[in-house]
Amino acid sequence: MSVRAAQYTADVLGREQVSPHLIRLTLGGPGLAGFASTGIPDEWVGLVVPGQFQSRYYTVRSFADGRLVLDVVVHPVGLVTEWALGASGDPVGQQVTITEPKGSFLEPDDAAWLLLVGDLTALPAMARIAETHPDLPVHVYAEVPDLPEELGSYLPAAARVTWGAPGQTGSRLAEVVEDLDWPEGTGYFWMAGESAQMRAIRKHLMRVRRMPSTHYDVMGYWRAVKERQPRAVDPGPIWRAGKAAGKSDEEIWADYDQARTEAGS
Ligand SMILES: Cc1cc2nc3c(=O)[nH]c(=O)nc-3n(C[C@H](O)[C@H](O)[C@H](O)COP(=O)(O)OP(=O)(O)OC[C@H]3O[C@@H](n4cnc5c(N)ncnc54)[C@H](O)[C@@H]3O)c2cc1C
Repeated sequence: MSVRAAQYTADVLGREQVSPHLIRLTLGGPGLAGFASTGIPDEWVGLVVPGQFQSRYYTVRSFADGRLVLDVVVHPVGLVTEWALGASGDPVGQQVTITEPKGSFLEPDDAAWLLLVGDLTALPAMARIAETHPDLPVHVYAEVPDLPEELGSYLPAAARVTWGAPGQTGSRLAEVVEDLDWPEGTGYFWMAGESAQMRAIRKHLMRVRRMPSTHYDVMGYWRAVKERQPRAVDPGPIWRAGKAAGKSDEEIWADYDQARTEAGS
């Protein structure tokens, strides 16, 4: 038996440009009434934008007074990126689906420092982790395509921040971590960004630094692929036909699942 995680329908209340490559979306409305944060600072939700069936993960930058804030990186091609940029009209006033939040960050009791490394997609989580750990020294290494002064106040002032930029062929975070001067003593290392870089770092932590797995958390947030993977079944026509027939989202999901089963995908 498969059990689908809880879902919430949220209204897009606001859209704000934080920096050239970061758009802040504020979600709210009655559909979010049952939503509760896990309190884990890197928690994320699945986001399904109108006309799509696939979800993409976004960090809960904040959740207070029924308002959920997500900071979306805009990059050249992508379902959410294009929607957030307004490809299907102004997102404000549209409805999106959000899944239950989940988190992963778990520093051990003996952690005397936090070292956070990530690209722009990891910045919301790094900011929230730093904000929720004012008692520990926090060093952030952020690899971003925007200028540090454009993002200067994004991270709490108490954190020590080193800004870097991606290389011409993409992220260089693995190289950066391999060359890092690590703080003395025991701490917790958290890192997120492009998946191949994360795989390289997991190997480095295990084989070179020999860190116990309880003292680090490394997550692939996105995968660099040259072109969007073609879908075996295009959800767009199914969604439009379902809406035109007055079907509920659940019924349209069922039609999509059926079409995928028939296509063998
Ligand atoms: C736990 C978790 C938390 C995350 N939190 C955030 C967050 O807070 N903010 C955020 O913006 N992202 C976050 N991400 C990453 C985000 O889910 C991916 O970047 C996602 O692929 C974006 O979806 P899309 O629809 O825009 O692009 P897709 O349709 O998924 O991808 C289209 C193309 O864009 C490329 N691509 C995808 N992401 C990027 C990128 N960042 N830079 C350059 N090329 C890219 C892909 O390789 C692909 O070729 C998180 C991911 C995880 C797993």
